[in-house]
Amino acid sequence: TPFDIVKFSEEITEEMQMIAKEAQNIVYQHTGTTSMVSLDQGLLRNCIINLISNAIKYSGEHTFIEFNTELTDDQLIIIIKDNGIGIPESDQKHLFEAFFRAHNTGNIPGTGLGLNIVARYATLMNGQIAFESKINQGTSFTLAFPVKA
Ligand code: ATP
Ligand code: MG
Repeated sequence: TPFDIVKFSEEITEEMQMIAKEAQNIVYQHTGTTSMVSLDQGLLRNCIINLISNAIKYSGEHTFIEFNTELTDDQLIIIIKDNGIGIPESDQKHLFEAFFRAHNTGNIPGTGLGLNIVARYATLMNGQIAFESKINQGTSFTLAFPVKA
C-alpha cells in the first residue's frame, strides 16, 4: 500500500533528533511534486535509521545532518549527509563487508554490521546504495529505489 514519504521521513527525523548529540541538527527536505510511494516501509525505515544513526555517531556536536528525499517519475532518492569524521579512502572499498570498521573510529563503539544490513535491504527492494566521503570533512550516502509511475 502506498504511503506518504514526507510524513514518514518527518516522523523518523523527529525520532532521530531525540537521540542526536548536543546541538546536532537533522534537517529534512523533500523535492518532488508528489510524495506517495509503494515500498516496504519496514525495510526502508531500517535503512534510513541505520544511516542517520551513523551520521550522528560519526559526527561531532554542533554539526548538522541533511536528510533529503527526492521523488521523480521513476525513482525515489534518499540522501543522508553529515559533516563528520569521514571514511579513509583505503577503507572505502570494504565498507559494506560484515564486521568491517574503518580505521578512524577510535573509541566510537560499533559492530560493523549496520551498513551490511542496509546494503542487503536495498538490494531486496531493488535499490542501490552509494556513498561519497572525505576524511575529516564528511560523508554522504545515497539510496535509489525504482518506483512505479
Ligand atoms: P553498527 O553495527 O552498530 O552499525 P558500525 O556503525 O561500526 O556498527 P556500520 O554502520 O556497518 O557499522 O558502518 C561500518 C563502518 O563504516 C563504521 O564502523 C565506520 O567506520 C564507517 N562509517 C559508517 N558510516 C559512517 C559515517 N557516516 N561517517 C564516518 N564513518 C562511517
Ligand atoms: Mg552503524
